[in-house]
Amino acid sequence: MDGGAAVAVEYATAEAPEASVVGVARGVVLAAGALNTPRVLLASGVGPDGPAVESANVGRNLQDHPAVPLTLALTTDAFYRDPGPLDAFAGGGDPLASLWASPGTSVGAFVRSSACGADDDADLQLTLFSPGQSEPHVAELLPEGHRNRTARNTALVTVALLRPDARHAVKLNASDAYGPPILTRGPRDAAWHAAPRCATCRTDTAWVTDADAARLLDGVERVRALAETDPLRGAVAFVDGPPADGSRADRLAWIRARALANSHWVGTAAMGDGADAVVDAALRVRGLSNVVVADAAAIPRIPNGNVHSTVLVFARRAAATLLGEGPS
Ligand SMILES: Cc1cc2nc3c(=O)[nH]c(=O)nc-3n(C[C@H](O)[C@H](O)[C@H](O)COP(=O)(O)OP(=O)(O)OC[C@H]3O[C@@H](n4cnc5c(N)ncnc54)[C@H](O)[C@@H]3O)c2cc1C
Repeated sequence: MDGGAAVAVEYATAEAPEASVVGVARGVVLAAGALNTPRVLLASGVGPDGPAVESANVGRNLQDHPAVPLTLALTTDAFYRDPGPLDAFAGGGDPLASLWASPGTSVGAFVRSSACGADDDADLQLTLFSPGQSEPHVAELLPEGHRNRTARNTALVTVALLRPDARHAVKLNASDAYGPPILTRGPRDAAWHAAPRCATCRTDTAWVTDADAARLLDGVERVRALAETDPLRGAVAFVDGPPADGSRADRLAWIRARALANSHWVGTAAMGDGADAVVDAALRVRGLSNVVVADAAAIPRIPNGNVHSTVLVFARRAAATLLGEGPS
């Protein structure tokens, strides 16, 4: 850094672990994702403690759509579709490696929890993955005997919260700036800075606030009620779920224990007009004239649906800034 601009980037790769330096011509684009872009900024001295640029909120405001998976045991294979002929063509014989491995489709619904008013946008996203489909980050949580993606007897429903209250944080691992960042999870309250943990570790700290858990429970109960309607009635049974005869506190505890991170991370280098925003409306890092953030880190509030299309809009905006197009 020199005089409010980045002048060079230091990097290392697995093949060339010694640090290399490349000079900056037009600018620097940060696009390492909402977990790693703040890590790069923090490692470069842009963060709460500087020293290059003091920016209090780098790594804070991490948001996701927490999701609760529900496993359905099917009493019929009527919902199963065999992989089509393209499967062998595209996958070279390995059904799990194939682009066409998903034998069916997933269907989704956006619904309002009872916490919403009649005019509010939906705050819950329900997704039914047909038999044979799963989500990689969910599979390991499924009960024994239901983890096989190609199983005909298992379907998965996820209930995701679209406007979560919880905020998490990413911090630099002081002992290994090149290693994974440290992820701190917790609601917005005093527990926000609870014990730091590795991004890949599963912990007993919930991804959700109490209010988030209540909305998710609402969605889970909606799914269970749907399964009691035709034509699903009698064709599906829940392998897991909140204890039916438990108290509300027991059912909320089940939700808190099962709520998963959902890989929709945003918000750790949030765009905004205020001085506390990490990047400005042109996606320039405040305090640095030639560094832009072009990924989900810059999205200040998680969108009310899957996030990838919003990431593309932000990336396009960052490109326009570097190219000198549009408002600066
Ligand atoms: C399993 C899964 C399913 C998903 N499904 C959907 C979906 O159906 N719809 C949807 O809208 N979104 C979905 N998402 C979310 C979507 O993929 C992300 O929102 C989007 O990819 C975020 O884009 P990004 O550019 O911010 O980060 P990323 O796509 O994560 O890109 C960051 C890149 O930076 C690289 N990188 C990180 N650190 C460094 C470093 N130090 N040096 C060099 N490179 C680095 C990473 O390898 C990666 O290639 C899903 C995500 C996952 C994981």
